[in-house]
Amino acid sequence: MGRASKRAQDTSGAGNLVTDHPPKQSVQPADAVEKLNAYQLKLERQNQQLRSSQAELEESHNAFRQLFELAPIGYFVFDKDSLVHDVNLTGINMLQTARRRVLHKPFLRYLNPEDKHQFNQHILHVIETGDKQACDLRLLRNDGSAFYVEIQSILIRNNDNGPVLVRSAMMDITVRRQMEEELITEREKALQAARFMNEFLANMSHEIRTPLAGVIGFAEVLEEELPSEHREIAQLIARGGNRLLHTLNSVLDFAKLKAHNHKLVQTPINVVDRVQKHCRLLSALAKQQKLSLEYTGATDPLYALLDPNSLDRILDNLIGNAIKYTPEGKVTVGVFASEDELKIEIQDTGIGINKDFLPQIFEPFRQEYMGDDRPYEGVGLGLTITKRLVDLMNGNISVKSDQDKGSTFTVAFPLLTNALDQLVPEEPQVPNVSKNFVVPQYKMLVVEDNLETQLLVKRLLKPNLEVVLIDSFDAALVAFNNASFDMVLLDINLGEKRTGTDLLHKLRALPGKAPFYAVAFTAYALPTDRSNFLTQGFDDYLPKPFTRSDLMDLLQRASLVRASEM
Ligand code: ADP
Repeated sequence: MGRASKRAQDTSGAGNLVTDHPPKQSVQPADAVEKLNAYQLKLERQNQQLRSSQAELEESHNAFRQLFELAPIGYFVFDKDSLVHDVNLTGINMLQTARRRVLHKPFLRYLNPEDKHQFNQHILHVIETGDKQACDLRLLRNDGSAFYVEIQSILIRNNDNGPVLVRSAMMDITVRRQMEEELITEREKALQAARFMNEFLANMSHEIRTPLAGVIGFAEVLEEELPSEHREIAQLIARGGNRLLHTLNSVLDFAKLKAHNHKLVQTPINVVDRVQKHCRLLSALAKQQKLSLEYTGATDPLYALLDPNSLDRILDNLIGNAIKYTPEGKVTVGVFASEDELKIEIQDTGIGINKDFLPQIFEPFRQEYMGDDRPYEGVGLGLTITKRLVDLMNGNISVKSDQDKGSTFTVAFPLLTNALDQLVPEEPQVPNVSKNFVVPQYKMLVVEDNLETQLLVKRLLKPNLEVVLIDSFDAALVAFNNASFDMVLLDINLGEKRTGTDLLHKLRALPGKAPFYAVAFTAYALPTDRSNFLTQGFDDYLPKPFTRSDLMDLLQRASLVRASEM
């Protein structure tokens, strides 16, 4: 049809394509043709716009599809039966298969059998709740190899009556999972190494302490029995042994603190009392160096929440150093309360500390005087241990020093207030051997497999006590059956599968025996051992090496307990 005839036809109203209203009143043919042309033009423009919008839409759809296909994450659309309604290229590549093998097929065939149930639950949960859900799954590639994915799914809300669909994004997390598994394995290995290290430390402690018990103990016996001109030799042997023991303790404590393996049992402690006792204990050492050691400071009780063993270690290190690094003058120790803090101050008139060295003073193995000609003993661990213990108990340590004039170390802990006198139980008093203490006539069974230690105990106790020496578990049972003992000293490591603790339980179970005072006797002398042995049923604990005065203290404690039980 020609253009003119079409226009003519349009003016009759038939096949009108224009959406605007045609004029209703009668118009001149020339006008009508003109208007018709205008409508025609408008229509063509609208059609053109429509086509270009359609092209744009198609273009952006294609762009979206490309993005969808190439996204770094696998996208899947599932229905409630896990049938795949759509999948992108990354999803196909993840499974290393062809699209036709995935699309409109059940997805379960790509799941590790153990994870199928979890996947079904995941999809159902999304459909039921409409909430976003996530979980980790193991998928199987076409060749059967497995890999991990993290899946996150949402519900596609459809208004028409089509199926309910779930859109899932899957990310390959195999590398992350492998790294996590490696980390777990590494952590296990590290924990095992730490366990071995602890065992090694405990064994090393045992292996060194057992012969040291002989060295220090027999040196003490010699000191008493040798003619005076040779006594100094025995003193030197004892001094060497004690120094070795001190070094061993420092290395063990440091290793335990480093491995975060130092267990604290914090309890309210009257620090004034504890510090005063320490000063009394160390005054003999100060006297040997012709120094005075004085306690100045509060006399009324001041409490802090502390681990008693750790506080003792801190005081030993700081007061010990003050004595060691003070050639003449005095050492002054005090406890003071200041606002909500309790301060322990250890002041000396000694060699002082160079200000360049001060910032490194708490670092391990740091010593101001190093090298072969260093004039002082020590391994440079005392202050490191001290600082770590102070930190562990929420305290703070500081130092002020003037070279050649002296140093002041201050340790601060949070002060415990609130009428503690009523709350805090009296600390068990461990009596010192009083001069008029009469050694009880006990019959003692000593079970110990080390010959030197056996002889040493016998030697140190013989004039006062009847001592029966036994070196094995079974012989101890026989001896105990055949006689009555007031006290038993049981070595823990008897070199057999059964320990001294097992033996104690057997002895306690024997019928018809009078109560006896049981002592764990061991070279496994770590700070937590005492409480461990007491909870295992022992009445007391004697770590090796030991001295005659340790044995006398032990006997005095035993006689006090036995007297109170009668
Ligand atoms: P050690 O005494 O075994 O060397 P420490 O860790 O106890 O190790 O002390 C580290 C160093 O700090 C010491 O070597 C010494 O140089 C210095 N030091 C510690 N206390 C004092 C003190 N009271 N006076 C002078 N120097 C001290």
